[in-house]
Amino acid sequence: MRPNLLDPFFASITSLAGIGPKVEKLYRRLLGRDDVPRLVDLLFHMPTGAIDRRARPKLRDVQPGSVVTVKVTVDRHRPAPPGRDRVPHLIYASDDTADLVLTYFRPRKDYLEKLFPVGETRYVSGTTAFYDGMLQMVHPDRVVDEKGLAALPAIEPVYPLTEGLSENMITKAMEAALSKVPQLPEWQDEAWLKRNGFPAFSNALIAVHRPSDIAGIEPDSPARSRLAYDELLASQLALGLVRASNKRSKGRAHAGDGHLRRAIIAALPYSLTLSQHRALDAIVADLSKPERMVRLLQGDVGSGKTVVALLASAAVIETRRQAALMAPTEILARQHFKTIAPLAEAAGVRAEILTGRERGKERDERLARLAKGEIDILVGTHALFQDEVVFRDLALAVIDEQHRFGVHQRLALANKGEAVDMLVTTATPIPRTLVLTYFGDMDISELREKPAGRQPIDTRTIPLDRINDVVEAVGRALDDGQRVYWVCPLVEESENVDLAAAEDRFKTLRKRFGGITDLVHGKMRGADKDEAMRRFAAGETRLLVSTTVIEVGVDVPEATVMVIEHAERFGLAQLHQLRGRIGRGSGKSTCLLLYRTPLGEIAKARLTVMRETEDGFRIAEEDLKLRGEGDVLGTRQSGMPSFRIASPEAHGHLLPAARDDAQLILARDPVLASERGKALLCLLYLFERDDAIRLIKAG
Ligand code: ADP
Ligand code: MG
Repeated sequence: MRPNLLDPFFASITSLAGIGPKVEKLYRRLLGRDDVPRLVDLLFHMPTGAIDRRARPKLRDVQPGSVVTVKVTVDRHRPAPPGRDRVPHLIYASDDTADLVLTYFRPRKDYLEKLFPVGETRYVSGTTAFYDGMLQMVHPDRVVDEKGLAALPAIEPVYPLTEGLSENMITKAMEAALSKVPQLPEWQDEAWLKRNGFPAFSNALIAVHRPSDIAGIEPDSPARSRLAYDELLASQLALGLVRASNKRSKGRAHAGDGHLRRAIIAALPYSLTLSQHRALDAIVADLSKPERMVRLLQGDVGSGKTVVALLASAAVIETRRQAALMAPTEILARQHFKTIAPLAEAAGVRAEILTGRERGKERDERLARLAKGEIDILVGTHALFQDEVVFRDLALAVIDEQHRFGVHQRLALANKGEAVDMLVTTATPIPRTLVLTYFGDMDISELREKPAGRQPIDTRTIPLDRINDVVEAVGRALDDGQRVYWVCPLVEESENVDLAAAEDRFKTLRKRFGGITDLVHGKMRGADKDEAMRRFAAGETRLLVSTTVIEVGVDVPEATVMVIEHAERFGLAQLHQLRGRIGRGSGKSTCLLLYRTPLGEIAKARLTVMRETEDGFRIAEEDLKLRGEGDVLGTRQSGMPSFRIASPEAHGHLLPAARDDAQLILARDPVLASERGKALLCLLYLFERDDAIRLIKAG
């Protein structure tokens, strides 16, 4: 279905010279793909900076520390003495003003003799330093002769890397990819392009990866803005198509007589809060209308969204239809299931779970029962998206922690039934304008009250060098019979490094506190993770050291102390989520935020907000002020960014235009049949919003 014109973009990167299976794996990591990356993934990998090689001083005028390209004559080599390969190979070079030493550690044999023939002229480019009274350049970035100089880019983009991939490798691959980029029909309005000084799409790609000046690298350069605008328009068009299709397809009224809801409420060990009642009423009113519901249920961690979701599900189950509840992680799915199962059972509702972990016969059997309508509510993870998961009659999809899923996935779930109503829950309140932008039209319910009996959390900030006092305090809490979370820092992008830190902390704490200490981290097998959580929930262990896997939703009401190491490295929303793990029972809770000094301005502000308030709505507002939209939405941390090029900070101002543009386009040309419409289809394919294209076809 995709226009052939776009084929080059979707060719596998292994079609590029020099990228075999091993290097391909590295690109998967770099580009965040589970599958073989395609040229489009590479081309949308944006540089984060640039090296300017235009400075061409005489050696006498070189500022040590700067990047320069200098013309030198090779005078002599001083290789490392035999057997002493720690000693660098030095090359003495000069121009008519001064000398330069080129330093190489462990060079390949004969390589340097060929690269630097004595007596010849070379251009070397790299960072200079002053060392041993000499001007030096250690491992020049580029060495070329007169001929090569013409091809030496004056400004070189710098890309984010992953271990095993160098700038050189990426630059080379990028060059190869750029050479395959075809000219595409223009999908943007010509007048708009002119007004903004935006280049054509393919020229914009070239300008971003082969910048002609330093400003070309900036996110707000015309080329980069053009690509960002393309991405925003594609997303707004996709949302518009979803909206249009939602409107076309009539909904179904599906809320029953209330008998299951009454049975569940009767089985609850507490009574619903006023906000829970209100949210439920709004949801049931939506469900009862013959229109599609798309509603967002926002409420702080611990505000009791799960039971509202269950009651909403019960309403559709009363009409003999089915509900699905999807969680972002395995732990969460299991926990929801654990909460839901006894209540469902009390009301005679058949609940089941399906994640990646159910396999073989058990899984087949569950899928068969689902298809026959013998399961009323299915709780699960991403596994619910799979094609084999077929409902007899799905009426309501509840998606927990929405921002981790994209529009695609929402559509995939909606397509599993007829006129499926959507309830999206999130613990990170999202300002209204952002909801519109990122998720399209939605109604919103809020749970602002905390369930009764909760006590405020005593939050303190403590410098890391007082960690021994903290360990003592934890000891007292443990003696007192309390349960403690100890969250280890996010050290690096790399999970392995984080893990090492958590393991070290675990070892020292276990030495001190013995067998009641346990460890849970993201690299553990699912079953082991659950088992660790179970032991902690049961009180068999009482000090749980973890990486951030406990971030979302885990519910152990007996836990009353939380220590967060290097709290300055966490975002506000994340700290709030983490802290939400405690203060869930009736006991008094304490949160200790350990930070490393000196604190930056933003980190300081964040910790202050944490100390001052537990109100998630206020925290979200502060977060927005401090860090911008991307973090509020969690797109950056979730590992599932919905935008690859556009960033809220640099391109947010383009959003209203993209939204208006999309509306106008769809009003005039709802099935994208015009000349421009066809070009816009290319755009949708290019940014892989083509799920939405199917909606056009569905009519
Ligand atoms: P959320 O998903 O909003 O973070 P949960 O649904 O996990 O919160 O609820 C947190 C805890 O509060 C659960 O243990 C739940 O049983 C309990 N709870 C929910 N509603 C109430 C209520 N109205 N009164 C008392 N406890 C409640
Ligand atoms: Mg929850």
